[in-house]
Amino acid sequence: MKIIYTDVLVIGGGLAGLRVATGVKERGHDVVVLSLVPPKRSHSAAAQGGMQASLANCKMGEGDNEDVHFSDTIKGSDWGADQEVARMFVHCAPKAIRELAIWGVPWSRVHRGEHTSVINAQKVTISESEEAHGLITARDFGGTKKWRTCYTSDGTGHSMLYAMDNKAKEEKVEIHERLEAISLIHENGRCSGAIARNLMNGELVAYVAKATTIATGGYGRLYSVSTNAIICQGIGQAIALETGVATLGNMEAIQFHPTAIVPVGILTTEGCRGDGGLLLDKDGYRFMPDYEPEKKELASRDVVSRRMTEHIRKGKGVKSRYGDHLWLDITILGREHIEKNIREVKEICESFLGIDPAVDWIPVRPTQHYSMGGIRTKYTGESQTLKGLYSCGEAACWDMHGFNRLGGNSVSETVVAGMLVAEYIADFCDSDESALNIDTHTIATFLKAEKDKMEALLTKENGEDAYVLRRRMESIMMEKVGIFRNGEDLQAAVDELEELYKRSKNIEVFRSKSRGANPALVNAYRTQKMLKLALTVAYGALLRTESRGAHSREDFPERDDKNWLKRTITSWPDENQTIPTVSYEEIPIEKMEFPPGFRGYGKDLTVVNPETTKRQCVVDALTEKLVREGANRFEIQNALMPYIDKLPKKYQGTNERLGENV
Ligand SMILES: Cc1cc2nc3c(=O)[nH]c(=O)nc-3n(C[C@H](O)[C@H](O)[C@H](O)COP(=O)(O)OP(=O)(O)OC[C@H]3O[C@@H](n4cnc5c(N)ncnc54)[C@H](O)[C@@H]3O)c2cc1C
Repeated sequence: MKIIYTDVLVIGGGLAGLRVATGVKERGHDVVVLSLVPPKRSHSAAAQGGMQASLANCKMGEGDNEDVHFSDTIKGSDWGADQEVARMFVHCAPKAIRELAIWGVPWSRVHRGEHTSVINAQKVTISESEEAHGLITARDFGGTKKWRTCYTSDGTGHSMLYAMDNKAKEEKVEIHERLEAISLIHENGRCSGAIARNLMNGELVAYVAKATTIATGGYGRLYSVSTNAIICQGIGQAIALETGVATLGNMEAIQFHPTAIVPVGILTTEGCRGDGGLLLDKDGYRFMPDYEPEKKELASRDVVSRRMTEHIRKGKGVKSRYGDHLWLDITILGREHIEKNIREVKEICESFLGIDPAVDWIPVRPTQHYSMGGIRTKYTGESQTLKGLYSCGEAACWDMHGFNRLGGNSVSETVVAGMLVAEYIADFCDSDESALNIDTHTIATFLKAEKDKMEALLTKENGEDAYVLRRRMESIMMEKVGIFRNGEDLQAAVDELEELYKRSKNIEVFRSKSRGANPALVNAYRTQKMLKLALTVAYGALLRTESRGAHSREDFPERDDKNWLKRTITSWPDENQTIPTVSYEEIPIEKMEFPPGFRGYGKDLTVVNPETTKRQCVVDALTEKLVREGANRFEIQNALMPYIDKLPKKYQGTNERLGENV
């Protein structure tokens, strides 16, 4: 029996996991990171367009600050987000980006003087100030009032992850590659580590830790076409669910990105439209201004994806043997801009489509992209129900994205949440509360349970083929739990997924019976877990009889603030149940700094909650009074919804900006 003891176990070596690990190590705690792949190959490396932080350095970012970033994020979330968490996030994003610059991320910079940009299909001359020269610049992105998305061309995630990984190495963070966490060790509501399987030789290892953090990214691969890497299968969320104690939040909140290439689903970044690219239909007609006169191609992703689908349904899509699609036209940006600022897009077009995007239009269609749902946590990143279990990054429902994440807010979340959660974990490890009280016998029991599961899969006869079950699950999710949803399809999806889940208890590993490196075995145990997760998504979507953000019900088109201003909480308390248990967590309007309203894009179909009007009156009256008394924006904010005390002391300070005297 192999047991490894450490203070902090971090499951996941992407941006979020590495940032947590670095933070706790800096605070003097031992840490081990587990990763399916070498960390530099984590999915974070695929992020293209950029990271949001309200620096306000470039001309088009002038006037930006935490308040603007906050209101964009809340509108983006369709009022589904936790507003305190969103505040903590926008406050810390400028700190996180500057930290990354120090750690080596070569952010694209402001250049003094005039340059040409494309805005709303027109070439516009923008003049950057002398004093901004050399500071981090930003580009436009969907759903934002200001140019706030900082970038390194369109290889932002790649450069962030490389810098983060180098920093983790510098801090001597211990990384165990090709080790997959397959269950959590827990007893009496306390998590004490995880059982991991070595993907190279099949060995099972118990990691015992005071604090365990799941930072395993999203669950996009529940769908047949996704922009996600193939390792984004949601195993982190599944092992939390399988404890029967930890809960998941808003699993039905799935984002589709407007511009994945057809047919393979590889992403072309929102930066293409942010920099001035246009969406065209089969007639070469620019249709988005008809639907979204104000934000056009740069409404939030959920809205643009729906508008594109609506347009295709009207017969305006381009016919192809892979189904209908639309065009993304970036030729207007010119070759020089494309080769400098969106060169990954150029390479993707050349390699996967055989076209030159400086000359040719790109075939695109909305595709599964991001998981807003995940392990439900407190603002500290700790599970609300399982002590000692933490989560951050895309794996978590922290919850700053609500029902729709803004582009650029995700890599930003990984490093901000990672930075903060590391401090809360370190505080926990410093306290007596973290003392471990788990005996070796219990650890051995968890190890044996996993060993028995593997043996059962390998020795089963006349069983089910996991690949068949999984392909079917992916198709159901794509066809019935997609951009537009309806009760009939969702019920059919839940019924069939439940049937697949029952069949998955009978899986046989067909292709190889090896107990060592064995992809067929890996697929077998992951498929069982993925089916549980798929059920949380489909069942949550079926029960939510409203439309909010990316969850769009054709049979319930209204955003129903009266009945649905709440978070979906899913658990799986009994291993014998075949459908998840669902409950709800209220999102209290009376505590909101920014009460629900119209997002400014999409359709305004809100069923207004009477509490909204009351709270809006309180917010307006308090703001007016404080303005009269000469209060500044920080004082007003603090009076409406205090959050600063929740932050670790070292991150409480205000952010500096050109021209803002703080
Ligand atoms: C193509 C694409 C482009 C994007 N562009 C942007 C962008 O421009 N801006 C933006 O803000 N967001 C973007 N996103 C979203 C963003 O990249 C991700 O949300 C973010 O990088 C997730 O980081 P993470 O650290 O949470 O997880 P990941 O980077 O996915 O890392 C997960 C880690 O967990 C490990 N892991 C998984 N399961 C296990 C297990 N069971 N045991 C052990 N280890 C495990 C993996 O090996 C990996 O190291 C993009 C997403 C895609 C798909």
